[in-house]
Amino acid sequence: MKPEVEIYDTTLRDGSQGEGINFSVADKLRIADKLDAFGIHYIEGGWPGSNPKDMEFFQQAKRRKFKNAELAAFSMTRRKGMPVEEDVLMRQMLEAETPVICIVGKTWLLHVTEVLRATPDENLAMIADSVRFFKDHGKKVVYDAEHTFDGYRDQPDYALTTWLAAERAGADCIVLCDTNGGSLPGEIARITSFARGKLRTPIGIHTHNDCGFGVANAIAAVEAGATQVQGTINGYGERTGNCNLTSVIPTLALKMGKSCVPEASLPKLRELSHFVDEIANFKPDPRQPWVGAAAFAHKGGMHAHAVERVANSYEHINPESVGNLRRVLISDMSGRSNVLVKAKELGFKVTADTPELKTILARIKELENEGFEFEAAEASLALLIQKCIQHRELPFVVDAYHVSIRSNGASSICEATVKVRVKDEIAHTVAEGDGPVNALDGALRQALSKFFPQLEHVKLTDYKVRIIDTGTGTAAKTRVLITTSDGKAEWGTVGVDQNIISASLQALAESMEYALMRK
Ligand SMILES: [Zn+2]
Repeated sequence: MKPEVEIYDTTLRDGSQGEGINFSVADKLRIADKLDAFGIHYIEGGWPGSNPKDMEFFQQAKRRKFKNAELAAFSMTRRKGMPVEEDVLMRQMLEAETPVICIVGKTWLLHVTEVLRATPDENLAMIADSVRFFKDHGKKVVYDAEHTFDGYRDQPDYALTTWLAAERAGADCIVLCDTNGGSLPGEIARITSFARGKLRTPIGIHTHNDCGFGVANAIAAVEAGATQVQGTINGYGERTGNCNLTSVIPTLALKMGKSCVPEASLPKLRELSHFVDEIANFKPDPRQPWVGAAAFAHKGGMHAHAVERVANSYEHINPESVGNLRRVLISDMSGRSNVLVKAKELGFKVTADTPELKTILARIKELENEGFEFEAAEASLALLIQKCIQHRELPFVVDAYHVSIRSNGASSICEATVKVRVKDEIAHTVAEGDGPVNALDGALRQALSKFFPQLEHVKLTDYKVRIIDTGTGTAAKTRVLITTSDGKAEWGTVGVDQNIISASLQALAESMEYALMRK
C-alpha cells in the first residue's frame, strides 16, 4: 500500500554538498543499503554528469537489488539551445539506469533571465523537453522546481506556468523547493496550498535549514497537501543543511499519524542517524532532536524525580519508539532520585531506602565542586558508588610515577615510569610515547598486564582536556576525560588536578580499574 507521505532521501547528493562531508563510493553504497533496509522510498544517489565518482556509484548500484527503495539520479534540465537527445547530460542520466530521474528546473524569472540568460519561453521548453524525454524512456520523473517560493513571491503566474509545463510533460511528482532556505512556515503553507489547488500531480517539498525552519517548512507543506518530503539524514547539506529526515520521519509517524516508512523501522532511527554520522566521520550531535544522546536526558532533580514516576510527565514521546534511551544526568542539580536511577542503570542493587545514597550524593557534590563532571564519565561514577556501597580493596595502587620529555629541536620523545603495587607485589615499568599521556598509558598498561592479562584488549580511544576555572582564585585546574574501549563497550572516566599529568593518570587508572570491575 502506498504510504501517505513518501520520503525522498538526498543525503548522497544534496547532503554530500555539506561542509566537511566527502563520501567515497564505498561509503555511498553502505549508506544506500542502510537507507533501503530502513524503508526509505527513494534514494538519490548523485548527479551522474557532475563527477566520475557519482557515475561509478551508479555503475555499482546497478548490480545490487534494493528491497524497498527506488534509486534516483539527479540532473538539471537540458541545456538551452540544443535538442534534448543531443545533450550529453541527458544521455549520462540514462546510463545510470535508475528507475527514477530527478530533474531540477528554474521557477524564478530572475534566474531564467539573469543566471541562465534564457527567455521565459525557452525555460518552459527546457523543462517540458527534459521531463518528456525521460518519460518516453519509461522513467518515473520527479521534477524539482528550484526557487519555488522566491519565484512565486516575485511572479506567481510565471512560477505556476513552469510547474504546469512539467505536469503536462508527464512529471510524476512536482517538488516545491525552498532552495535558499529563506521562507517561513506560513508562506510555505500558503504557496503549497495554491500549488495543490492548481496541479493534479502529487506535490513534494524540498527545504533547506537557513532560518532553522528546514523541518518546520516541510511539515507545513505536508499539512498543506504535499505527499513527498525530500531531505537528508541528520540534516546534512550545503550551508546550514537540508531538511533533517531524522526529525521529519518521527514527526510524520508519531505526531501526525501519517503512514510513511514501515512502522517497524522507527525504533531503528537512532541507529540510522548514528550510522550515517559514523560513515561521514562526525561525532553524533547530542542535542539533535529525537535521536541525540541528550534528547531524553533529565538533569533537573525535579524532572528526574517526575519521569521516574510517570515517564511522560517530562517527555514528549517514549524515547524507545525512536530507539533512544532515557538518561538521567548526574550533576549539581541532581537529587537523591537521580542518583538512585543512575545507580540502578549502572547495575547496582539499590532502593530509595539504601542508606548509602546520602553519602554517594554528598560525595558527588563535593567532587563536582572540585571540577569533576560525571555526565560523560559513567565509569568513574560507578567506581565512586561502589566504593560507598561496599568497601573492598583496590585491585592496584599507583605508588609512584615519573614523566620526562626530551627534545632535540626537531623531534621530542616522552618517557614515563610507573610503579604499581598489587597486594604485596610491585611492578616497575618504563614506556615511551609521542606525548606524556601516551607514554604514561603505555607504562601503566605494561605494569598491570603482568597481573591482569585481561586488560590486553582494553584501549584508550579518546582523550579530551579542558581547563576549568574553579572560581576560587587559585590556579586553574585541568579536567581530563578519557574514553576507553574493550572492543565491545566504551566507558568514560574523569580526572581533575592542577597538573595535567596527574589528572590524566587518575582518569587512566580508573579506566583500568573499571575494566577489572566489569569482568
Ligand atoms: Zn537542495
